[in-house]
Amino acid sequence: MDRLKRILARIDRKGYGAYKDITGTYDYRTFKLHVKHVQSDPFAPPGRFEAEVSLSILRLPSWALEDEVSRTATADWLLRRLHDVSRKFLRKRGSGNSGLYAFARPGQEIIQRSGVEIGAKALTIRFGIGLPADGRRINGRIAIKMLIEELPTIIQSIFPQQRHDAELKKHVETALDASFIRQKLKEKGLVAFIAEGAILPRASGVDNRPLDGAVPFNPSAELVISFKLPSGRRIKGMGIPEGVTLIAGGGFHGKSTLLEAIQFGVYDHIPGDGRELAVTVPAAVKIRAEDGRYISNVDISAFIRDLPSSIDTKHFSTEDASGSTSQAANIIEAIEMGATLFLIDEDTSATNFMIRDELMRELIRKEPIVPYIDRARELYSRLGISSIIVVGGAGDYLSVADTVILMEEYQPICATQRAKEIAQRRPYRVPDVPAFRSPSARRLRRNSVSPYRGRKIKVDAKSKHTILFGSNLIDLSAVEQIVEREQTRAIGKLMLYAIDKYGDLTVREMIEEGLSDVITEGFSVLRATDGFLTLPRSFEISTALNRLRGAVFD
Ligand code: ADP
Ligand code: MG
Repeated sequence: MDRLKRILARIDRKGYGAYKDITGTYDYRTFKLHVKHVQSDPFAPPGRFEAEVSLSILRLPSWALEDEVSRTATADWLLRRLHDVSRKFLRKRGSGNSGLYAFARPGQEIIQRSGVEIGAKALTIRFGIGLPADGRRINGRIAIKMLIEELPTIIQSIFPQQRHDAELKKHVETALDASFIRQKLKEKGLVAFIAEGAILPRASGVDNRPLDGAVPFNPSAELVISFKLPSGRRIKGMGIPEGVTLIAGGGFHGKSTLLEAIQFGVYDHIPGDGRELAVTVPAAVKIRAEDGRYISNVDISAFIRDLPSSIDTKHFSTEDASGSTSQAANIIEAIEMGATLFLIDEDTSATNFMIRDELMRELIRKEPIVPYIDRARELYSRLGISSIIVVGGAGDYLSVADTVILMEEYQPICATQRAKEIAQRRPYRVPDVPAFRSPSARRLRRNSVSPYRGRKIKVDAKSKHTILFGSNLIDLSAVEQIVEREQTRAIGKLMLYAIDKYGDLTVREMIEEGLSDVITEGFSVLRATDGFLTLPRSFEISTALNRLRGAVFD
């Protein structure tokens, strides 16, 4: 630490480039600081820093580190604490990013993030610092204040005396309860569970916090099941069984809101989120139409047969998919990755992909599309893949549903029995179609993709829904289960890592191997790891890879 102080005093008033002299490791007695990379000018993104704190100094309670779920929740909470404390020291102190402390700001989900990782012996904290300058001249005095005085205060805010272990405990218990339910779902024949009292709507389309004054979730008695949680509480809520489930109801009665809560139930949520006990099986994938997407060699023949131009739909490729072909490809690619539950909203589906009513069947004789309604039951009986489908208009679906949930004024009512009676009067008969065959595993043709732009590797997230990969932009605007921009960044970096290391395996193996390296060895296996990466799921990584224009699969 004294050595760092001396260097900073020496380079005071020099050109900004002299900051690279501080690259290296410094001993702060209670932790080690690694200056990994220093920004090249005051306006560039802040440099990469790591603090390493030994677990013996942190003295975390044993319950905080007991199992994977607890460790993840603990790391998640510590990062939130560091972020909050660092904000108190935030002020502009010179040009560009001078004076910035950049700790990732986690959203509503409890997930593994690179900002804080718990190792066998030490905690790694990753963050950025905007090293201060006046114009392009180093301000050594402020740099000393930041690195020697303020930084230790921020890091020490997670030491035992300054920590609030009661709050940490609540965070850990919340994650444990949700994970417990997720584990039990299968055993109980369920695909999702939403507790009584949950708050599902969000504040706005861009604000993921709970909506103020929302009506709490209160399912009708027939749907209610109960759980005894590890925290000791017994709770009740709505269980959605395996099979084909419809969420029906008039417009604005909360159907899409319920489906969205289910799609994010693959993640654990922080206390106070409202969806802490809205839990879904891990391999749930939102499926929607996505006009214009890129597709390479996907067998969509189960849904789209002989196209007029005699295009082969067993090996379907396009630069510009239609609503129905994109939705079909999204399904097949998700099956390839091991999805067990599809979440479909009529609002974001291609109508001709979802249904074709009897009158149209009579009129149109040459129809290449086998609508989802003709496959939904079969997907479950043959492959064990359940569906939860939001429908307002397509009544034929009543005939293929196992469970019907009717939303009225944001409340779910069990309507399975009534739906059966109605469907019996005007049943929809699924026509005979050739049996669904599971898609075969594809491999990436490695030389079809390149992370280089010019001579440099360029892989980054331009926004929550755009990845720059070499000279290609990957459009993820229709990929709904991404939680934050840091996750999109991690998807990009993981693609790079997995292609490089496991590119000869099948797409699924390649992605799962890459992901499992990060889970077991930590984010440092990725390239130029900083504090702004959030663990993605294998599904979203494959989603990005499948949309990378130019990528060829065999
Ligand atoms: P639908 O899909 O049935 O048309 P939405 O789910 O889009 O309906 O919900 C319509 C509106 O009602 C949205 O603005 C949503 O935020 C709000 N909303 C949904 N659930 C609740 C609730 N439990 N309490 C208050 N407002 C809600
Ligand atoms: Mg809707």
